[in-house]
Amino acid sequence: MNREKSDIYFNGLGMQTGNEVLNLSGFKEGQFPFRYLGIPISHKRMAIGDCSRLVEKIVMRIGNWGARKLDSVWIERICRNYLWSGGDQYVKSPPVSWENVCKAKKFGGLGMIDCRLWNVALIGKYVWWLVIKADHLWIKWVNHVYIKDQDWMHYQPTNNSSWTWRKICQVKEQMKAGFNNGRWDNQDHCSVAGGYAWLQGVQHKVNWWPLVWNRMNVHKHSFILWLAVQWRLMIKDRLIKFGIIADATCDMCMIQQEDHHHLLYGCQFSVQCWNLFRDWLKINMPLVGVLEWGVQWRCRSLLKKQMIMAAMAALVYQIWTVRNKCRIDLQLPRPCRVIAEVKANVRLLNLTTM
Ligand SMILES: [Zn+2]
Repeated sequence: MNREKSDIYFNGLGMQTGNEVLNLSGFKEGQFPFRYLGIPISHKRMAIGDCSRLVEKIVMRIGNWGARKLDSVWIERICRNYLWSGGDQYVKSPPVSWENVCKAKKFGGLGMIDCRLWNVALIGKYVWWLVIKADHLWIKWVNHVYIKDQDWMHYQPTNNSSWTWRKICQVKEQMKAGFNNGRWDNQDHCSVAGGYAWLQGVQHKVNWWPLVWNRMNVHKHSFILWLAVQWRLMIKDRLIKFGIIADATCDMCMIQQEDHHHLLYGCQFSVQCWNLFRDWLKINMPLVGVLEWGVQWRCRSLLKKQMIMAAMAALVYQIWTVRNKCRIDLQLPRPCRVIAEVKANVRLLNLTTM
């Protein structure tokens, strides 16, 4: 019996039957080398070549999963491309910066999470634990190995420190302005959400957010209205700035230059639509600056106001849709058809009798 077999045979309770060795546990004798999960296993020391397949698998998995799905920049790019193109590719300059997209809706954004800032806020939790010297094994270990008797707020990592520890120290520098005498931003606790809000900085509420994010709005209407109130629709005066087109003449009236004000209130077609809209709802609203009026408008019935705001959002969406179709087929529908579409969109029941 050679050594390779004896290593398996002398396991305490072995029985030999012919060429096979069975034991009470039911294991069957094998021989070196053999493969386990595709990797060659031998009693000899493995060469680099033996491990190459294992290394390839690990690298492939890191490339596809770790380096991509765990990378906050990559996640952000996927979200941004999907928002502006509906796919994973988008090479143009986005109408709204990602920083503004990630603001809360009441501050003018879409309420998306900024993955990079959220990641910093998560790491900030560790920084906070070190500030308050939390009773945690990891905190004790870090104090013993790295910080020792130094003041954590003034501590600087050495070049020999691990990558993870240096990242934590970077976050400490980024967030230290929020720590004051052992308190976080004048609070006795540090939540990830609180740290994230602090990292976003001081933000100001926009007065149009109840109009845009009115609960009765159709989502796609809200999105176009969100761009329109910020003058971020991709209309001709913006396309000229980017050098995409040379002529900014409005395709709907073929007379004036197309900009946001013209599209919404100045174009003959838009004016006719708003006229019909006002006649339908029987409310005293201006024809120019109706969105600004809607923001300020006081109505006794919140429900009625919400329904009329939803109808306004639907009309802005329809005007934008007509404008885009007109660029291709150079035909305009009758304004009454547009209002009929608005009515179908928002399904206003008994609105005119409220
Ligand atoms: Zn026009």
